[in-house]
Amino acid sequence: MERLQKYRFVTQIIFFLLGFTAFYSTFGWIKFLYVVLAVIAGAFYCGWVCPFGMIQDVFGRIGSKIFKNKLRMPAVIQRYLIYLRYLLMGFFLILAANQIWNFSAFDSRIVFFRLTALKAVETSAIVIMFLFIMAGMVFDRPFCNYFCPEGARYGLLSLVRIFSIRRNADSCISCNKCDRVCPMQIKISDKKSIRSPHCINCFQCISNCPVKGTLRLEKIKWPRKVASSNSIK
Ligand code: SF4
Ligand code: SF4
Repeated sequence: MERLQKYRFVTQIIFFLLGFTAFYSTFGWIKFLYVVLAVIAGAFYCGWVCPFGMIQDVFGRIGSKIFKNKLRMPAVIQRYLIYLRYLLMGFFLILAANQIWNFSAFDSRIVFFRLTALKAVETSAIVIMFLFIMAGMVFDRPFCNYFCPEGARYGLLSLVRIFSIRRNADSCISCNKCDRVCPMQIKISDKKSIRSPHCINCFQCISNCPVKGTLRLEKIKWPRKVASSNSIK
């Protein structure tokens, strides 16, 4: 595993273990830091902190050992399907605002920690989580790609970020490896900077680019050009 990905995995493990402690109830304000981080540099929460993201990554790696090729959503479908999580976020927000349904109760990550604390959970929630984990073995981050309202929130906040991944077109050899390894199926190889709210800052693209330094996390130059690089894809 490349060094950056090792750091990311260790960070994921640390936050995963912290989830078993009173960390989040004692330091509830840390969630505000995730929001600030998203506004400044993108959805680090999704790629480095989220326990359900880590579980999908782990089973994704196991799947990579078993299956030669992972499934990818056809681009023409992915283009529209990525909006699903924003619709879900809006739906849950409306429900929560009306006090009809407890939004947090249906957060898969909270359900997961309830499960680990041996509290009663809805069987359907366990089954759904299990299905996502299994799906994660053949398809990268299925929950994050289409269903996570938390990821949608951080993604939307990241639209104004100051730091983002930039591609040096001069050193890029157009091998498209970055596109193939991106778990969120973002087309990286034809952009100057990645401003997609779908990016989870996993840095798989940077780690796997064969020309070191071609992809970097850098400050976005202002005034920025509103081009294809600013699309949601
Ligand atoms: S992996 Fe690197 S060299 Fe290959 S297309 Fe992407 S940015 Fe260019
Ligand atoms: S663009 Fe790079 S950092 Fe963002 S999700 Fe794709 S691989 Fe990860």
